[in-house]
Amino acid sequence: MVRDGLIPEGSFWGTINCDGINTNGDICGVTTTSGLAWKIPGRVGDSPILGAGLYVDNDVGAAGSTGRGEANLYNLSSYLIVESMRRGMSPKDAGMEALKRIRANTVERRLLNARGNPNFNIRFFVLNKRGETAGVAMYHAGETRYAICNENGAQALELEPLLEGTPE
Ligand code: ASP
Repeated sequence: MVRDGLIPEGSFWGTINCDGINTNGDICGVTTTSGLAWKIPGRVGDSPILGAGLYVDNDVGAAGSTGRGEANLYNLSSYLIVESMRRGMSPKDAGMEALKRIRANTVERRLLNARGNPNFNIRFFVLNKRGETAGVAMYHAGETRYAICNENGAQALELEPLLEGTPE
């Protein structure tokens, strides 16, 4: 369909995580399930699995993800991020903790690049009970920005990467 010009090259995927907090400090979150294009039939992905592509705890915060969903299914990354914030970490440090966990647990050769690091990207969007946010990624590559909107209006911010370079 891309080759035939029926859909734009950059639009055959479209997972989105969106987290919010209201003036009472109540938190919500959603991760869409658009997921990988041309999925293996029956593949669910990480978006609808609580703790993987999304986790919300109204006492602590919310985290969600885009990128290689299997990494979140193996590591329950969104749950890990929220639990890390419960133990006192900032949104950014908690997101980095999940990226480090994924890096450490990615051991299959087919998933590693020549540097021995994950050959895929993954991103986390994190919000805590105080309304502080972070956007982190394994690599600053591909989709490199995330959006926040608060009393100062809407802004696009750069995702902070754990690793230098690109997945390849
Ligand atoms: N996380 C999604 C999935 O693995 C893919 C994506 O974020 O584009 O289904």
